[in-house]
Amino acid sequence: MELSVDGGSVTLADGGTVLDATRAAAVDVPTLCHDDRLSPTGSCRLCLVLADGHEVAACVTPAAAGMVIDTRDAGVADDVRRALELTAQRLPRRALHADTELAGVCDRVGIGPDAFAAVGRGLGRDESHPYFTLDRDLCIACGRCVRMCDEVQGTFALTLTGRGADTVVAAGAGGPWTESACVSCGGCVDSCPSGALSERGAGPVETTTRTTCGYCGVGCTLDAHTADGRLVSITPALEGPVNRGHACVKGRFAHGFVTSPERLTTPLLRRAGRLTPVSWEVALTFVADRLRTIRAQHGPDAIAAISSARATNEENYLLQKLMRAVIGTNNVDNCSRICHAPSAAGLTAAFGLSGGTNPADDLDTADVILLAGSNATEAHPVIGARITQRVLQGAALIVVDPRRTELARLADVHLSGRPGSNVALFNGLARLLLDHGWADLDFLAERATGLAELRDVLAGYPPERVEELSGVPAAAVSEAARLFGTARRASIVYGLGVTEHAHGTDGVRTLANLAILRGAVGTAHGGGVNPLRGQNNVQGASDMGALPDQLPGYQPVTDASVRRRFQEAWGVSLPSRPGLRIPEMFDAALTGRIRALYVMGEDVAQTDPDSAHVRAALTACDLVISQEIFPSQTAQLADVVLPAASFLEKDGTFVNFDRRFQRVRPAVRPPGEARPDFDILRAVAEAMGADPGCPSPAEAMAECARLAPLFGGISHERLDREGALHWPCRGPDDPGEAHLYRRRFATPDGRAQLAAREWLPPGEQPDAAYPYTLITGRRLVHYNAGTMTRRTADLDLVPGETLDMHPDDAARLGVDPGSPVEVTSRRGTVTAPVRVTDDVAPGQAFLAFHFPEVAANLLTSDATDEVTSCPEYKVTAVRLRAAARSSTE
Ligand code: SF4
Repeated sequence: MELSVDGGSVTLADGGTVLDATRAAAVDVPTLCHDDRLSPTGSCRLCLVLADGHEVAACVTPAAAGMVIDTRDAGVADDVRRALELTAQRLPRRALHADTELAGVCDRVGIGPDAFAAVGRGLGRDESHPYFTLDRDLCIACGRCVRMCDEVQGTFALTLTGRGADTVVAAGAGGPWTESACVSCGGCVDSCPSGALSERGAGPVETTTRTTCGYCGVGCTLDAHTADGRLVSITPALEGPVNRGHACVKGRFAHGFVTSPERLTTPLLRRAGRLTPVSWEVALTFVADRLRTIRAQHGPDAIAAISSARATNEENYLLQKLMRAVIGTNNVDNCSRICHAPSAAGLTAAFGLSGGTNPADDLDTADVILLAGSNATEAHPVIGARITQRVLQGAALIVVDPRRTELARLADVHLSGRPGSNVALFNGLARLLLDHGWADLDFLAERATGLAELRDVLAGYPPERVEELSGVPAAAVSEAARLFGTARRASIVYGLGVTEHAHGTDGVRTLANLAILRGAVGTAHGGGVNPLRGQNNVQGASDMGALPDQLPGYQPVTDASVRRRFQEAWGVSLPSRPGLRIPEMFDAALTGRIRALYVMGEDVAQTDPDSAHVRAALTACDLVISQEIFPSQTAQLADVVLPAASFLEKDGTFVNFDRRFQRVRPAVRPPGEARPDFDILRAVAEAMGADPGCPSPAEAMAECARLAPLFGGISHERLDREGALHWPCRGPDDPGEAHLYRRRFATPDGRAQLAAREWLPPGEQPDAAYPYTLITGRRLVHYNAGTMTRRTADLDLVPGETLDMHPDDAARLGVDPGSPVEVTSRRGTVTAPVRVTDDVAPGQAFLAFHFPEVAANLLTSDATDEVTSCPEYKVTAVRLRAAARSSTE
């Protein structure tokens, strides 16, 4: 539509406001209560303008074709001034001295110190939170923080309380902030225009570096602010394609680890049983000599490497190249083996490619979301918040999870099945889709295969049998099928609760069946099947070929023509036999087949299942190299420790959960002699007398793009220009495919493959000796092995691990909240204080593995997915017993 602003003509899309029109005309209208991400309220009265002669608040007034807007009227300017004076009257003069939106607006409108009160209202401060403070005297009650919490984060932890001029924000019931439901995302702090909410210790900024979060696989775009070479703060970037100016407590605040005194700053070599500081030259010579000797004595396949889902693509690319081209083995794997390998196998078999099918933005148009095996609000908080937003807008939500997570509480249907029952549940849903005519038969006829075989298997999964196998009431299964079956746009999002099972690949396949049956994948309608990848770059680590059977871009090592291409580029002969998977590496170390293990940026001694077995394997090796940022459990068992840079100190790219390449840029220098993994790997190759090629991360990405057609159009230069690119991206002019399979699936016959899979029992089931089922997972505040978050003030928020159990079980054991309980599996025993909650079903218990003091993985099962060797972290049979309190308690 066309309209006029201050005499100039402006074109505006339908639905815009008068404020949008003034901005389109580049006319600056002051605002305080407005934030583009939030619903407008018009409460601050600063955006007053004349629209067709009427004084209106621009942010809440719809623009209309032909409207005449005047922002320069003197009477309106007086009203704006009076409104701001009214706000200023209740604030102390110091409000003007802060670097805030309020101070800027006062300057623009011409409001000086005299308009402010000499002293505050005496409303007090809340200093309870480790990362930010509330100065109530500076609160202008604009409600932006409240709306951020409600509309973006979806936590509803804040409210405005009090009367008239004393109205201020309060968390929860108004007690200390940390006792409220606040999840510390920082959205309120970032939106506050007056400085009432402010980050502790965030001073003036000299330089801002745009980068990508190094915690989870959501891939939030962050701005790292520095001054004097030090990290001052990190804020989420409004332009972030996935996070849109939002973050979680980890990405937003948990960066104190960067300057932790525990950082590794010099190489360490084990001498007389102790890790002793040495020079890089000594460390590298030692590593190269030992690797050469072991290779000469036992062959290249006696050496194995575990690459890092925390490291960049370029570093993963270089490590697999080091192993294949310099050492001469395919023994390289990454931690997707222990989380999403079943996704790679299952999605490739169903659709053709090893990644989620649709971009995160498709959640915005979904009218039903099926969330399976994911506590997204804690493990992938920004996606959890986006799902919450969509549900609040009216989408239906089905949650498949044994625990009553936050999203399960919000769901229309919560399918709380016994751990290990996913395949039965998904088969039950599939059968109902077919029985009720909710399957898209045209789509199935044109674009899918395997329907007849699937029907045969599904005959055995009526809702009543599904109830028997899973414990989920048949009526709930039917209701979930109805919601999913009648939706126009059905999205499937899932997590490790689907993959980390003895039949995890079957779980992915039978879940994918649901999307295929509904024609909700490979179409223009959105929907799709998206795994929430765990660590920041677990997708990229596999994309880059840190896999024992695949070169970069998922090209089989067994394919001679593929090998030939890499051999020509790298100038060496490459091994053709697939290498060992991570669990096989540990087994092989114990039999003497593996003599050297190179572990880059993973704490396998804490994170991998059956830790006693892992520790024994590490101890059995002749050489363990740990490349780390902290003295992790694994580093403490290593022969040599190489100090590495954190994600805030390095250059490269990550790939997030929806296949998006994004740039990682160094904001600060690594401490001491620590070096980026990329530089260390090059130095190791050179110490072994090899030229690793690709002297910089940009050149490594360019080399990978030349060799892996899926990434042919990816380059640092393009990412710097365009921000992010989805793979496949096959050439410099290819915009990348956010939506996969619009024309055909990437399977050999071009069709989606339905999978006929029977439910099979998990590797372990509760029995008389071990009557409870232990589930492991993550908590919001900490991350993975806790290596980084335990060295931040996140520790003030969650200082230790708890064993979550149902009140009935706590009563049966005779334990109160906080009492220690001994948890014993067939592999070990740990003790943790109890958290009593009915979020956990009777007969089950939950532990995270963020704290080495409560080594959850001493307990976890040694059962693995039959297809991919992914461990069954989600089902461990345990017994529980009240433990004696220690004398120090
Ligand atoms: Fe980082 Fe994930 Fe949090 Fe985003 S949601 S800030 S990527 S940890």
